Amino acid sequence: MTTCPLCTTPAPPGTDATPGVNTSWVCVRCGQRWDTVRLATVTVYKRFMDTEY
Ligand SMILES: [Zn+2]
Repeated sequence: MTTCPLCTTPAPPGTDATPGVNTSWVCVRCGQRWDTVRLATVTVYKRFMDTEY
């Protein structure tokens, strides 16, 4: 399931990130707008942080 990287609130049903499809949604809890590109960027960043520390 797709979740908000900031507050881990699950995305609304039907907004699962599908490769090749630029799905976007607005988090109901923190109001951030997410799409597959932003999610990929955050995932890479978090992986980098885990590696460094
Ligand atoms: Zn959120």
